[in-house]
Amino acid sequence: MGNEDRQIFLRKIPGVDRLLGSEEIQGLARTHPRALILKAIHQVLEDLRARILEGGIEDPKDLDIAAVLTKVRERVEDLARPSLRPVINATGVVAHTNLGRSILAERVIDRFRSLAGGYSNLEYDLKEGRRGSRYVHVEGILRELTSAEAAMVVNNNAAAVLIALETLAKGREVIVSRGQLVEIGGSFRIPDVMRKSGATMIEVGTTNKTHLKDYEEAIRPETALLLKVHTSNFQVIGFTKEVPLAELAELGRRYGLPVMEDLGSGCFVDLDAFGLSREPTVQEVLAQGADLVTFSGDKLLGGPQAGIILGRRDLVEAIRGNQLNRALRIDKLTLLALEETLRLYRDPKEAIQEIPTLRMILQPLEELRRKARSLMDMIGLGEGAALGVSLCDGSSKVGGGALPLLELPTCLVCLDPGKMTAQSLEKALRASDPPVIARVEHERVMLDVRTIQTGEMTIVAQTIHRIARGMR
Ligand SMILES: *Cc1c(COP(=O)(O)O)cnc(C)c1O
Repeated sequence: MGNEDRQIFLRKIPGVDRLLGSEEIQGLARTHPRALILKAIHQVLEDLRARILEGGIEDPKDLDIAAVLTKVRERVEDLARPSLRPVINATGVVAHTNLGRSILAERVIDRFRSLAGGYSNLEYDLKEGRRGSRYVHVEGILRELTSAEAAMVVNNNAAAVLIALETLAKGREVIVSRGQLVEIGGSFRIPDVMRKSGATMIEVGTTNKTHLKDYEEAIRPETALLLKVHTSNFQVIGFTKEVPLAELAELGRRYGLPVMEDLGSGCFVDLDAFGLSREPTVQEVLAQGADLVTFSGDKLLGGPQAGIILGRRDLVEAIRGNQLNRALRIDKLTLLALEETLRLYRDPKEAIQEIPTLRMILQPLEELRRKARSLMDMIGLGEGAALGVSLCDGSSKVGGGALPLLELPTCLVCLDPGKMTAQSLEKALRASDPPVIARVEHERVMLDVRTIQTGEMTIVAQTIHRIARGMR
């Protein structure tokens, strides 16, 4: 396109006043603030100018007022939409960190309305009529469920590890196995957290083997803590040795040193009983003699984002008194969600049924098959449709860095993209409202019904139907 054509195109762009005077905009102004509409108009006009200058517009019809108004309306809707939105998780990764990890139980959600819209006894002792502690709302139940001496909670497990190290080992040394210097997604790395806490990390052993004597030989007057980190998101196999927690705890007792385990994904229910691989429960870790254990609220526990600290009373109280706690403290809505989730654990059978993370992990294959078949029927695309729909076997993941090698057998609804590519089909699902997040494998789009909630099944089916219709 020549310079002259560009000038003609630029002059053809409708002016702001003309757009504002249109019926379409008047209509939008009834439901949207004027400032938002103006912002959308300016953005759309700016985009058009830029595209003309780079030769991206060839059809002058794209500059007709009707075409521009359509763009403005789309932009207004885009700007007005909340940024944080619900999505449908069809990935089969249960505690998907990018999709908000655990979803909360119905009973937890029910309590939000009454508490969030009013005042509460968050830090108020109703019996004494004076200032109380926010931690009492979960400390009792945590102690009851785990037999821990004391408990407290902070913003997340990263914060729990940081504040524990800062309190117990700042300016001193922490001994940790080289095989446990883990990185969890999103920049949580043991050596970095250690540095931030002001503690000096003393690495012992090798990548694959660490013996009890490696710890013992590193103990000096400067030693403040023996740390064990649960290698939750990977496994070292082959010629390996890790010191069992019970032995480390015994060593700690002999030298008068506290032993802490960063458990990562704390679980209260023995998943072994359901044929799932070994993940130590919080109760076991405490029974093996850990003085302190920290874990997340939103991984296998299935609650809100939180960091839970359990253990010896003197240590927990020292952590509670740390100034840093003011910056890492847990918010009241989180506390509410955590308390209500924990209350469900009083009856493990109820916990498994009511806590979505556990329920999804333990969903039997037969049920998943039925669910997948029913989704396929609801999609209802037969022979000759633009998309092929079939069922196939696959596996789901726990996610959140828990049980990394565990493949949970599942049933997938597979979409053969026909004339589209699998990538563009995945993108179309993602661009829907609500977005459907699926995975692409072997040139097909796979929907794992394990993480699709019952109420979402029709929406997924309708979304796929609409995309297939649009492909004709
Ligand atoms: C997940 C994890 C963390 C971080 O927990 P967040 O709750 O995400 O802050 C720390 N340590 C281990 C071993 C973990 O698995």
